[in-house]
Amino acid sequence: MSDSPAPQPPLAAATRVVTLGREDDVPGAQVGAPLVLTSTYRAHGDTMYARSGNPTWTAFETALGSLEGGDALVYSSGMGAVSAALSLVPHGGVVVAPDAAYNGVVSTLGQREEAGELTVRRVDVTDTDAVVAALDGATLLWLESPTNPLLEVADLATVLGAARERGVLSVVDNTFATPLLQRPLELGADVVVHSVTKYLSGHSDVVLGAAVTAATEAGRALRDRLLLHRTLHGAIAGPMEVWLALRGLRTLHLRVERAGANALVLAERLRDHPAVERVRHPGWGAIVSIEVMGGPEAADRAADATRVWVNSTSLGGVESQLERRRRIATEPKAVPENLLRLSVGVEDVDDLWRDLDAALRSVL
Ligand SMILES: *Cc1c(COP(=O)(O)O)cnc(C)c1O
Repeated sequence: MSDSPAPQPPLAAATRVVTLGREDDVPGAQVGAPLVLTSTYRAHGDTMYARSGNPTWTAFETALGSLEGGDALVYSSGMGAVSAALSLVPHGGVVVAPDAAYNGVVSTLGQREEAGELTVRRVDVTDTDAVVAALDGATLLWLESPTNPLLEVADLATVLGAARERGVLSVVDNTFATPLLQRPLELGADVVVHSVTKYLSGHSDVVLGAAVTAATEAGRALRDRLLLHRTLHGAIAGPMEVWLALRGLRTLHLRVERAGANALVLAERLRDHPAVERVRHPGWGAIVSIEVMGGPEAADRAADATRVWVNSTSLGGVESQLERRRRIATEPKAVPENLLRLSVGVEDVDDLWRDLDAALRSVL
C-alpha cells in the first residue's frame, strides 16, 4: 500500500453544488450549512464584526466560488454586486458596455455618465469587431451574455482576450447562463457578477448578489478591493437569505437542466405560433423572449391571461414567469414594446405550452 491515497478525479459541478460549503467531515458535524445569526464575535478570532464576515456567507461563497472557478463575495442584491464591480472604475474612466442590457446596469451607467464620473461607449455585443475596436483606451469592459432581455450572445473568448491584451478590466454578468452553462473567468474575465436572486437561489424568495474574481494574483488583488468596498459601503447580505440561497443552489443543476429542456421545446413551438412575430432564444438557457402580434396592448393582455405562468418581474425561479419589459420606464428603448420575456420554469412542459398558447390565442 502506498502512503498517499490514489488521486481522485475532480468532482463534477453537479456534485459540487450538492456538497460544497458543508462543515468538515468530522464525527457529529452538521450536514446542513450553518445559519449564523450574530452581529459580533468574541475577541481574538479571525472576524470581529459581522459586517466583514459570517460563516453562512462563507459556505455559500465557497460553493459559488468553486462553480465559477474563483473566489466569491456575496452581496445584499445583484445591484450591490454591480455597484461594487463598477467601483473598480476610477473617476473619468471609460466603460465599454452593451447598448441594451439589464436596465439597472444601463441606468447606473447612464447616471454616472451624466454626473461626469465616467464615459460610456455603447456597443452591440454581437458585433465582435466593434466591441474590440471600442476597447482602445478603455478602463473596463462590461458584458452580459446572453443579454437581458434581447438574448444577444457575445463571443466572450474573443472580446475578453482582446480586453486582457489591452489591459482593460472585464466584468461579465453571468446571471442568465449560471456557471453550469458558462464560466467567464475561464474565458478571461476578471470579475463575474450575479443576481443570486435568479437561478442560483432559484425559488423567488430572496434578493441577493455575488461577485467572483479569478484565483490568480491579479484576481486576489481585485477581491481585496471588492471586499473592502463591501465592508465599507455595507451592502451586506442577511445570513438567512444566504442560507436560503445555498439551499436553493443544491438543486441548480436539476433546475437548469429541466428549465432549459422546457425552454427548447417552447421556443420551437412558439416559432410557428400565429400570435408571435419573433422568437429569441440562443439555443440554450431557459429565457425565451417573444414579440407578440398586435403591439404592447396585446402583449399585456396575453401576459394577464395565463393561469400557470405568473405575470411578474424577475426570472430564474422554479415557476414560469412572463413580463412585458417595456412596461418599466427605464427599460432600454432598443427592447421592442411588444416583447414578453419568458422565464421558463420547471413545471410540466405541456401544461406550460397549453397555458401560453391559450393566452396568446386569446389576443388574436
Ligand atoms: C436581476 C438582474 C440584476 C440585478 O439583480 P438584483 O438581484 O435584482 O439586484 C443584474 N443583472 C441581471 C442580468 C439581472 O437579471
